[in-house]
Amino acid sequence: MSLKSYSETRWLVMDNLDKKTRSLNMSAIRSKGTKPEMSVRSILRDLKIRCRYNVNKLPGKPDILVTSTKLAIFINGCFWHQHKNCKYASIPKSNNSFWKNKLKKNQNRDSLVRRQLNKLGYRTMTIWECQLTSRNKVKLEMKVVRAI
Ligand SMILES: [Zn+2]
Repeated sequence: MSLKSYSETRWLVMDNLDKKTRSLNMSAIRSKGTKPEMSVRSILRDLKIRCRYNVNKLPGKPDILVTSTKLAIFINGCFWHQHKNCKYASIPKSNNSFWKNKLKKNQNRDSLVRRQLNKLGYRTMTIWECQLTSRNKVKLEMKVVRAI
């Protein structure tokens, strides 16, 4: 999903969200698009790992591609991509079936994209937005290093 349609969809459905999700969404909007990605970029820069960003030619348009080891990195929002066992991924009670359906589609698309990339010889890695805290930076660095 492109950033534009992503945020448009988000605004369209805004009114249907319950209060908890709405405040979560507001925080997601504040950090929209670039900020989480930037912090991962800075980790990779610190590690002197050369990357390409927003690779449109590949399935799912990976946020980051480590070209030397063919690792595609996705930075996923916990709610939209349904981070398992994450407190930010709870499905709103109102319009519950709508959300279940919509989010399931996102998950299915994510796994399809992973399979397509694997077939093309790429490995994939997901970094979740909730993992992008400054407290978590070292842990995240380790995760990236191990994956590369
Ligand atoms: Zn999460």
